[in-house]
Amino acid sequence: MTDNVRTGFDAIVIGAGFGGICALHKLRNELGLTVRAFERGSGVGGTWHWNRYPGAMSDVDGHVYKFAFDKELLQQWDWSSRYVTGAENLAYLEAVVERHDLARDIQFGTVVESAVYDEDSSMWTVTTSRGERFTARYLVSALGPHSSRNLPEIEGLDGFGGTVVHTGAWPEGLSVDGKRVGVIGTGSTGTQFVCAAARTAEHLTVFQRTPQYVLPSGDRPVGTEEKAAIRAGYDRIWEQLHDSRVACGFEESDVPAMSVSAQERERVFQESWDHGNGFHFMFATFGDIITDPEANQAAADFIRSKIREIVQDPETARKLTPTDLFAKRPICNEGYYESFNRANVSLVSLRENPIVAATPTGVLTEDGVEHELDILVCATGFDAVVGSYKQIDIRGRDGVTLRESWQDGARSYLGVSAAGFPNMFMVFGPLSSFSNLLPSIETQVEWITELVGTVERTGKSSIEATKAAEDEWVEVCQLAAGDTLFPKVQSWIFGNSADRRPKTIFYVKGLASFRAKLREEAAGGLAGYSLRGNGSPVPRS
Ligand code: NAP
Repeated sequence: MTDNVRTGFDAIVIGAGFGGICALHKLRNELGLTVRAFERGSGVGGTWHWNRYPGAMSDVDGHVYKFAFDKELLQQWDWSSRYVTGAENLAYLEAVVERHDLARDIQFGTVVESAVYDEDSSMWTVTTSRGERFTARYLVSALGPHSSRNLPEIEGLDGFGGTVVHTGAWPEGLSVDGKRVGVIGTGSTGTQFVCAAARTAEHLTVFQRTPQYVLPSGDRPVGTEEKAAIRAGYDRIWEQLHDSRVACGFEESDVPAMSVSAQERERVFQESWDHGNGFHFMFATFGDIITDPEANQAAADFIRSKIREIVQDPETARKLTPTDLFAKRPICNEGYYESFNRANVSLVSLRENPIVAATPTGVLTEDGVEHELDILVCATGFDAVVGSYKQIDIRGRDGVTLRESWQDGARSYLGVSAAGFPNMFMVFGPLSSFSNLLPSIETQVEWITELVGTVERTGKSSIEATKAAEDEWVEVCQLAAGDTLFPKVQSWIFGNSADRRPKTIFYVKGLASFRAKLREEAAGGLAGYSLRGNGSPVPRS
């Protein structure tokens, strides 16, 4: 570590994924601040930089997995199919960076190790893995919800002679073509990987712990006329999306599933199945799939019947069929269940037949079978949202660490601010809106810009959420989650919490309601915030 402290920055942004890029753009190009962004990777992209596994794609319609702020780029951007691959997402973000000349303020290959607030100077000091120190008034962490990887503990894994890889750290150039591949995990990532790898691997063994409900994605080419209509209608598209729950660009239903006949339910479910998309099936079919157990049961039964219909081997179909509620983050893919009809794909249910150890040539399961593998892929997910914060030593007022502050569960006000951490802003921190990530990120970065702009305008030195506002938001989020069926199944939405009372890491009432809360907070003169320092008083509207 050198004593060299770099000053002269107004804001430091951690991360150059979609969140960090949006923050860098708004703070620098809209507020006119001097900003330095740090990124661990060698390029921009965050999730899309690291998750280069076969089949990686965004599973919301590609035209709404974009920033609304660059209207010109929305008109110019071309795409070919309904969903956008990881590589295309990366290309889009690179275009944003290029158009707004953002790369010159990003330092790549740099890990932020600590960020410490000094109350006397109202400054943050950030220390990087290169031994540099930077100071700035504002700290914006855009660490990404899925950047801290979970790895399974498998005895003898070090002695495995093949390649072990996590999907979230996929090495450039690693191909599964013609290889004997094993994949552990069947979440969004694992199921995407299965669909892609089944087509090219010599053999694919899927090690499944908990079966998932997987909907068809309905991916298809998008024609010239459809693209023209989307481009012409973008203003209306954003308006509808901002006024919806999951912000995926479709009309959500408020019809209770049990208010219609069984035949009508079947028709609606089939229509959504044919249309494709997991969020569509959960939120556009009926309005109470995630709140009413009976409605949920009907949706789950429909999907289970499809599994039985599609999967030819009854034993494989049985293992693939979920028995719990349809209440995890919904998943969609092209041909997931069909993959198991291929001769080169086999399924191991880890609940019935766990992995006991890795061997030099593969993986041994309890039934004594050694599954010979060239590549073992861990699609085992992430310590979502909170995990990346555990890796940085963040100290706020009075030296209190974020880890200490979150020891009974991650807290925030609006997913953005944390009491005791002045001038620190999280993009998609805990208790953010559970909705399409891009509009959620953009909404929060606009809010951060508003908060920073308020400090700048008023000449105050800092802004931070009050403890009371944070406590209330934590409660609002837990109550909102409790009104749904989400807490009744174990999933990363609850940080895979082993607590007796699962704690949500999201605000599940949706983006429209989240945005309404922001409007209310603004109209109330930022009553949930405290502004400190000399300066003229905050204008109250
Ligand atoms: P995930 O949903 O948490 O799934 C992890 C999978 O690994 C689960 O099947 C889990 O089984 C299994 N697993 C974890 N630890 C295991 C162990 N020790 N042994 C055996 N199995 C184990 O993670 P993900 O699939 O990476 O997805 C996370 C989120 O990333 C998604 O929900 C989504 O928001 C985002 N994502 C988005 C896209 C997209 O298209 N936009 C694509 C990929 C990911 P259990 O169910 O039993 O825990």
